[in-house]
Amino acid sequence: MAARASEDPIREAVTARYAEAITPTMARLVDGSDPRDPIGLQFVPDARELERRADELDDPIGDDAHSPVEGIVHRYPDRLLLTPLTVCPVYCRFCFRRETVGGPASSVLPQAKLDAALDYVRSRPDVWEVILSGGDPLILSTRRLSYILDTLRRIPHVKIVRIHTRVPLVDPARIDDELLAVLDRAKPVYVAVHANHAREFTDAGCAAVARLADRGLVLLSQTVLLRHVNDSVEALGELMRTFVENRIKPYYLHHLDKAPGTAHFRVPLAEGKALMSALRGRVSGLCQPTYIADIPGGHGKSPLNDDYLAGGGPGPGDWQITDYQGHKHRYRE
Ligand SMILES: *Cc1c(COP(=O)(O)O)cnc(C)c1O
Ligand code: SF4
Repeated sequence: MAARASEDPIREAVTARYAEAITPTMARLVDGSDPRDPIGLQFVPDARELERRADELDDPIGDDAHSPVEGIVHRYPDRLLLTPLTVCPVYCRFCFRRETVGGPASSVLPQAKLDAALDYVRSRPDVWEVILSGGDPLILSTRRLSYILDTLRRIPHVKIVRIHTRVPLVDPARIDDELLAVLDRAKPVYVAVHANHAREFTDAGCAAVARLADRGLVLLSQTVLLRHVNDSVEALGELMRTFVENRIKPYYLHHLDKAPGTAHFRVPLAEGKALMSALRGRVSGLCQPTYIADIPGGHGKSPLNDDYLAGGGPGPGDWQITDYQGHKHRYRE
C-alpha cells in the first residue's frame, strides 16, 4: 500500500475531498507496485480525482430531481430506490454518488426519516419493486435491515426487493447466518453484486456468494466499464464468466457516469460498444450483460444499442440517446 495519508500531501488533498475506505479483503489484493493494478485503481486515492471537467456533475444521474422524500429516488412508476444509508465498506474512486456517499453528511437515515420513506412506499400502489441502494445496504445492522425488510413484507403491492451491494465480495464475513436468516423472511430478494474485475472473487468471497445462492436468493451482476480495470475483451470476458461460475447472472455493464474527478476512468462509448460486440460469440450467452447508460439529468437508463443510441452529431463523441419515454437527449463525450 502507498504511504499513509499524513505522509502524502496529494493523497491527503484527495481524501479531504472524497472519502477513502477499503476492507482487509480488498486491501490484501492491491498490488502497490503496479500503478495499473485493477484493484488499486478502484480503491486507492489518485491525484487525478482533483481534476474536474466542465461536463462533470455533482448529481450526474439526476437523483435529486426525483427524490420526493429523503431516502427515496422515484424515477420509474413501478420501482424506486430506497437509500437507507450513504456509507459504504469501500469507497470506489469512480463512485457516481461520490458527492453524497461517503461525504461529510453521510450517515444512516435516522429512524423517523426511514419511516417517512417507508410511508411513501406504502402510499404508492404502483410500486412493485423496491431497490435498496445507497450506500451499501448490507452493512446496515441486522436489526435495521430486518426492520426495513419486515416493513416491506407487510406492504402488499411491493412484490420484489432488490439489494445493490459490494459486500459479498469485499466483506464476505458479513454474509453470516444471522443476515441470511433475515433475508429468508423477506419478499423474493434479488441481489445485484457489484464487481469490476475477476480478481475481486477471493475464495472467501466466492463462499459468501454461494451462501446467498444456496439460500435461494437470485443473484445478478453490476459492473462499471473502467479504463485499465476492465476495458479489454479478455478482462470483461473473464469477469462475466466468473460471475456465471458463481451463479451470478450478468445484468448491467454501466457506462461510467460523469461524476467529478473521474475522467481518467472514462472509456469512450464507441469503445464500449466494440467491447460488447467482441464479447458476443466469444463467451456464452449466459455471460452477456446489457451495456447501459444513465442519461444525465435524471432521464433514466437506456441500453447502448442501436434502438436507443445514434451518432447524430458533427463529431465522433457526439451522440443522441433516447430515453424509455421516447425523448431524445444529446450526449457529448
Ligand atoms: C437504476 C435505477 C433503477 C433500476 O433500473 P432497472 O433498469 O430496473 O435496473 C430504478 N430506479 C432508479 C431511480 C434507478 O436509478
Ligand atoms: S459501492 Fe457503489 S455507492 Fe459505494 S462507493 Fe462504490 S460505486 Fe459508490
